[in-house]
Amino acid sequence: MEKWSDEWKTRCETLRDNYLEITDRIAAAARRSGRRPEDITLLAATKTVPVEIVNYGIELGIPVIGENKVQEFLSKETEYLPCTRHFIGHLQTNKVRQIVGKVSMIHSVDRLKLAQEIARVSSDQGITTDILIEVNIGREESKSGIMPEQLSELVEQIDRLQGLCLRGLMAIPPICEKKEQIREYFSRMYQLFIDIGAKKLDNGSIQYLSMGMSGDYEEAVLEGANLVRIGSALFGARNYNK
Ligand SMILES: *Cc1c(COP(=O)(O)O)cnc(C)c1O
Repeated sequence: MEKWSDEWKTRCETLRDNYLEITDRIAAAARRSGRRPEDITLLAATKTVPVEIVNYGIELGIPVIGENKVQEFLSKETEYLPCTRHFIGHLQTNKVRQIVGKVSMIHSVDRLKLAQEIARVSSDQGITTDILIEVNIGREESKSGIMPEQLSELVEQIDRLQGLCLRGLMAIPPICEKKEQIREYFSRMYQLFIDIGAKKLDNGSIQYLSMGMSGDYEEAVLEGANLVRIGSALFGARNYNK
């Protein structure tokens, strides 16, 4: 997209309005749940969004961006302004090498093999990569994520690996008709987050609970999320043809 074009200007204005509204709503939800607004981190989910728009968002103050496809991330990352980059999408083991060292956190670790590869590549580079474990909280066959009852074992296995640091949990709950239903899933995630936070870990320091997207981030914050991943509510509906 051409910077300074009419389309760019319109999309930047929309982004600024959305950003202000979302940060207000996050702040209100944080206070309602007994926390401070600054305890909650807004991650902008940037899939399909042109670099020029994302960069405007970074200038506005969006603290973290998250990409969810390796190819798209690699094609955009060198053009992004300085900012914290996370990887939030499903990750194939054979693509780990392409992103380790370029993102500060990977949200979607859901199996030991993937964790082992991240650990191996990170160790080769002499770095430590922060990871979250993705939990399939709604037990949906179509979704990735470890089943809740297998979480504890995976945490213990991952804790033996050098080269990564377990920082918390991530989830994408099922689409729910009612707000109470989605809150129930978020609340179960919060309980798991508390449970693993109580474990004594050698290679972990549990701090982040990544949940809540455009349609449900306030509910997520009310139930204890401190990292929300927001795409369309910030940037507008995704246009996959561009
Ligand atoms: C796209 C995406 C989001 C944001 O989705 P929206 O509904 O557009 O806010 C959050 N998390 C992941 C993993 C995503 O891929």
